[in-house]
Amino acid sequence: MFEKEIHVLEGTFLSDTKNFRRVLLSIADGVYMTDQNRKIIFWNRACERINVNGNPLCETDHCPLQQCMVKGVPGDKPVLVRAQRRDGSRVIVEVSVAPIIRDNGRVIGGIEVFRDATLEQEMRETKASFLSAITHDLKAPLTVIKGFLELVLTGDAGSVNETQMDFLGSALEECDRLSKILNDLSDLARFKATEFSYTPRLLDLTSLLQQVHDIFIFETTKKGLTFKTAIPQSLYVAGDRDRLYQVIANLVSNAIKYTESGFVYLCAKASGDKAIISVQDSGIGISRDEHGKIFDQFYRIDNMVTRKAGGTGIGLSIVKKIVAMHNGEITVHSEPGQGSTFEISLPLAAN
Ligand code: ADP
Repeated sequence: MFEKEIHVLEGTFLSDTKNFRRVLLSIADGVYMTDQNRKIIFWNRACERINVNGNPLCETDHCPLQQCMVKGVPGDKPVLVRAQRRDGSRVIVEVSVAPIIRDNGRVIGGIEVFRDATLEQEMRETKASFLSAITHDLKAPLTVIKGFLELVLTGDAGSVNETQMDFLGSALEECDRLSKILNDLSDLARFKATEFSYTPRLLDLTSLLQQVHDIFIFETTKKGLTFKTAIPQSLYVAGDRDRLYQVIANLVSNAIKYTESGFVYLCAKASGDKAIISVQDSGIGISRDEHGKIFDQFYRIDNMVTRKAGGTGIGLSIVKKIVAMHNGEITVHSEPGQGSTFEISLPLAAN
């Protein structure tokens, strides 16, 4: 029944150019088509409501439409683009793009479908700035409390007996735990606020990986773990340095947190057209049925070690989003008691 209806539409209704035009004009989302030089040759009414009056939404060579026309394949997921309405006000649109391809395979233009996502993005930004303001306001007094606790502990405010030392030490540990939670929350706020203003640059991962090693070597040694690395001479990807640092640092920090004895191993290599970065540990491991869930926001596995270590369940959800932003993938290989390996693959870039 359904197939028959489609056939009727194709055979009679849509083969009439005027009907086809009517359909496009009345679609509620903005639809515009361009020629191969990105000159707009058709736009529907919704485009006029949202923005376009004969101008492409985005004029740079990084424009998603331009990129899909060069590659000759549709964009794999919708992207958010900032643009201006005709009255000058800002608009954020969610854009899906595809090339228009002749039977002989030649790209003769592009089609862009978009919808106004301004309201939902503004809501997200408001939430993010609220979260950011709260975490900032909580961090400041916490730093002061930590400072005074450290002063008292070092004996600068008079002698401290052993029991007092114990109590103050526990208070200091809790401050550190709280401070990690606040860091996770401010990462989340930062991520949400700038989710779509990401600009990839050519980046050699080796110095970034070395920096992660140098930052975490103290913590690993303090916990009695060895921190091994295997970092190549150079490894180029197109990416955002701060974001990728956040990804690797998060994985290494988790590896240390969930490992009581043994090692943490940070390794990177080129394999085919991918850069592979893996973070391995000899820690508590993760059962197979949890592998998918640990990347969900706020998800934590509940056991003695995770309870003691503390956390928010935010880290891996951000890691996964950042990796996806870089057109990469993250996988986990782990069994309880057998340690864990988190592996990231990113497209290699020519240097
Ligand atoms: P958090 O560490 O703050 O709880 P994450 O999102 O970073 O949040 O991790 C989610 C959960 O995944 C953790 O609570 C933990 O149970 C599990 N996990 C993450 N990394 C490891 C690891 N290297 N070894 C064992 N479990 C891990």
